Amino acid sequence: MPEAQRDMPAASGEFDIIRDFFAGAKKNSEGVVLGIGDDCALLRPPAEGVLATSVDTLVADRHFPAGADPVAVAARALRVNLSDLAAMNARPLWFTLALTLPHSDVDWLRAFSRGLLETAARYGISLVGGDTTRGPLSITIQVTGISECPLRRDGASAGDAVYVSGSLGAAAAALPVILGQQPAAESTRREAEHVFYFPEPQLSLSESIGGLASSALDISDGLLTDLGHICAASGVSADIDMQALPVAPLAQQLAGEGAAALAAGGGDDYQLCFTVPPENIPQLELLGLDVTRIGRIVEGAGEVRAWRDGERWIPQACGYQHF
Ligand code: ADP
Ligand code: MG
Repeated sequence: MPEAQRDMPAASGEFDIIRDFFAGAKKNSEGVVLGIGDDCALLRPPAEGVLATSVDTLVADRHFPAGADPVAVAARALRVNLSDLAAMNARPLWFTLALTLPHSDVDWLRAFSRGLLETAARYGISLVGGDTTRGPLSITIQVTGISECPLRRDGASAGDAVYVSGSLGAAAAALPVILGQQPAAESTRREAEHVFYFPEPQLSLSESIGGLASSALDISDGLLTDLGHICAASGVSADIDMQALPVAPLAQQLAGEGAAALAAGGGDDYQLCFTVPPENIPQLELLGLDVTRIGRIVEGAGEVRAWRDGERWIPQACGYQHF
């Protein structure tokens, strides 16, 4: 597009921004024939496997506070996208960045690009292009990966066991602290910020379970909601044992008795939820992974039921106050 027609005039430095903060991005992965600087990136897919691609937008004051540390915002933006690749058992390759900025804030950009490119190096993914425009602060990242053994949402069958990785509820418990709605000690506030802005994409876990699981997704909206997506896609239902849920210590610390509800219903943890056919369970358990069996898939029409002491546990009763 001619420069005069761009949203951001040359005086405010669209091309300077690209050159100073993004054009130097390193090749952290294979297949980058031509990166930033031309009309398109040129990418060579690996000979084996299928490409997995996903895009996510983070809007200031909707997904993160506009005044948040740009290093943390960048880390979160890329990590949540990498989590989608992990959910499919795809290895990260390339990503693009569409950045909309209210003004050219050099300090913000320096910190943001550092956070972004450090995160990219850590997970072996290459920034290969993007777009830079003026407007309300928003960050769109599209990631592409490669998978030889993709994990989909539609593979669960009655009789499969339901597992989750890690622990749940920490990010939902952290949110009111980050938003300044709940007082906390300095060390707790730092832990809350770390949990929220630096979620760990479960890439190596998904590689380990790739050949054993029948379905998987990452938990972004809350365990019961997201497991509902597996059930709907697979045409089955699920029974979940509330007492089996691995509740995060931070959730226990910040939410007390409400922690189990946060583990079941709170979003933003980016752990994996996956199902395993009975014949693969012994092999999975032998791997000694940080995973917990929390329930089972049954025949049904896409319903997720949570149980506690033999009785139905209804989420609303235990409080969804944060959402
Ligand atoms: P075009 O005029 O073809 O739309 P642009 O001027 O928008 O191209 O971008 C020039 C080059 O810089 C392209 O290779 C584009 O992918 C890259 N680019 C633009 N913005 C970003 C960004 N925020 N991050 C990374 N690469 C970017
Ligand atoms: Mg062009």
